[in-house]
Amino acid sequence: MTPAINAERLLTTFIELCAIDAEPTRERAMADRLTALLHDLGFTVTEDDAGTRLGGTAGNLYATLAGTGPGETLLFSCHMDRVVPGAGVKPRHEGEYIVSDGSTVLGADDVAGLAAVLEGISAVREQGLPHPPLELVFSVAEELSLLGIEQFDMTSIVSRCGFVLDAGGPVGEIVVRAPEQVRLSAVIHGRAAHAGIAPEEGISAIRIAATAIARMQLLRIDDETTANIGSIRADGPTNIVPDRCELSAEARSTDPTRLAEQVALMRQALEDAAREADGRVEISVRSNYRSYRLDPDAVPVRRAEAAARRLGLPVRHRSTGGGSDANFFNERGIPTAVLCCGFEKVHTCEERMAVSQLTLLAQWVAAILTGA
Ligand SMILES: [Zn+2]
Repeated sequence: MTPAINAERLLTTFIELCAIDAEPTRERAMADRLTALLHDLGFTVTEDDAGTRLGGTAGNLYATLAGTGPGETLLFSCHMDRVVPGAGVKPRHEGEYIVSDGSTVLGADDVAGLAAVLEGISAVREQGLPHPPLELVFSVAEELSLLGIEQFDMTSIVSRCGFVLDAGGPVGEIVVRAPEQVRLSAVIHGRAAHAGIAPEEGISAIRIAATAIARMQLLRIDDETTANIGSIRADGPTNIVPDRCELSAEARSTDPTRLAEQVALMRQALEDAAREADGRVEISVRSNYRSYRLDPDAVPVRRAEAAARRLGLPVRHRSTGGGSDANFFNERGIPTAVLCCGFEKVHTCEERMAVSQLTLLAQWVAAILTGA
């Protein structure tokens, strides 16, 4: 059987949490409120020092609860922060959706996950249904390329079956594949000269950057691979040939070989353009997180799928172009699937959450908890 959830309490929690300020590295109020709610549910909660390390106001929360029935420990994880502008959110109903007032995001990414996890657990415990031991990780600074979870000590996790509630798409869909993200930073050096009197003596760092970018294949490369220039920075008066330009870019792919090829081509374009102009470029490349691919037989996939089928949800395995905290759990040997949460238009001020999807999400959590 699938446990009933309290849809009204769920919605109240969702709206309350959306209204709490929680921009990246500013999660203090959210961490405090979640800690109180978890204590009410009987969890032991600890907070790590990620806040101090990242110059933020709160660390990652790690919470554990003893099981009341048989089964291996399950891990549920969500992030506490949301993108900017994510402070002063005023959630309101609009038809069957919850939306913001249009001046901020709503924060359903990832409050929908947080509220659904809390409600799923509350419902199961209230009804006295047996559940396995539980571990929760609520991370900070996820929206800053997963900086928060990177600080988290994964050795404390005992679970080998994880669920991250943090993806758009209809509730019931399961993300089983996500890309690695590589950040490429370049500093291009040219030579300064008077732009009016002796431009031929100068080497324009901006022009080197422009030449390199024009030669790069960018945006959608193939089904699995993307690339983007995020910024180019150079600042000077128009009467000086610019001798410095900084560029930051990224590439992602679920295929490590394709990713390496793409990064090599971007690097090559910069080096060629610099050399041809007698300039110079320093390039640094850093992998922010690793890709993962879960087998259809992986425990969290099977378990999420079985629970979704019991609820009559349309089940689909899919890949994503975005990273999530699941990339880190999977990298550290904790098989973790991402559950789609039904939020829409995330990272925009039109972000919205259908109440019916929120309800299904909490039911899904409850069904996973009780579906040994
Ligand atoms: Zn998210």
